[in-house]
Amino acid sequence: MVIMAVPPSSLTYQPVLKRIAEEIEHTPGRGRPADYIPALAARDPRAFGMAVAELDGTVYGVGDWREPFSTQSITKVFTLALDLAREGDELWEHVGREPSGNPFNSLVQLEHENGIPRNPFINAGALVVTDRLQTRTGDAAGELLALLRAESGNPDLDFDEEVAASETAHGDRNAALAHFMASYGNIDNPVPALLDQYFRQCSIAASCADLALAATFLARHGIRADGTRLLSRSQAKQVNAIMLTCGTYDAAGDFAYRVGLPGKSGVGGGIIAVVPGRCALCVWSPGLDERGNSVAGVAALDRFTTLTGLSVF
Ligand code: GLN
Repeated sequence: MVIMAVPPSSLTYQPVLKRIAEEIEHTPGRGRPADYIPALAARDPRAFGMAVAELDGTVYGVGDWREPFSTQSITKVFTLALDLAREGDELWEHVGREPSGNPFNSLVQLEHENGIPRNPFINAGALVVTDRLQTRTGDAAGELLALLRAESGNPDLDFDEEVAASETAHGDRNAALAHFMASYGNIDNPVPALLDQYFRQCSIAASCADLALAATFLARHGIRADGTRLLSRSQAKQVNAIMLTCGTYDAAGDFAYRVGLPGKSGVGGGIIAVVPGRCALCVWSPGLDERGNSVAGVAALDRFTTLTGLSVF
């Protein structure tokens, strides 16, 4: 059977979101919140929110869609966009763009591949991107916060100092990744300063509504909310492609199979997804599977693309 994309005029998102929330409510097994960052462990695994933002900034939502949560690795998409916009293809001499097939915080490939991480969405790759953005701007986390505030239209977005401190206190793995890459000459800034920037960026708290709106520039092929261009059309395509192939780590194949959209998850339980030319989505539920992706979040996006036919395939 051929599933046709629903024309914009005849698709109203609210009934679809309501139906998905009801189905999720009755789905047993939600996974477990991340506990390796103690400040994240306390969230209720049954919390659930979902939002869809259209290209003109209209947002639809259901459940806890206005509740702030820890964005974590979702921010890797926005730092990548900020750095690509500044330095262009030179970035790809320092980080690859192949799926890793390994967990997001894995060290194993780095030695074989001379300190060049597989892609910008595993932690090692994101540390390289943040390092390069830090060199270019002097305040990578501040640039990121400014972008998220502007694109979401929410000036209250901010760092969560408790989460940043919690990660710093339990950050040995990320410190090991950064020091190891520094030993190959792939990190410019002092590692403690880089980690501070990285943990602050991961700590930003935002809601599904905020993040769906913030991701809409990728559905607008690189155009920001104010009409200016952040990325070229080609760069927006590239970021979307890397989200599809690498955005959910060693589950990216299964995510593409089930959801069929570029997506990026974070261990706070959020996932953003993009329907190029159409809309951006964000779903949040803190219970994770063993690969660090929200169980209810992936299920909800699976249902969304199945019910609407809105997929890149
Ligand atoms: N801050 C987390 C970390 O560095 C981000 C990981 C994630 O969201 N997958 O471990």
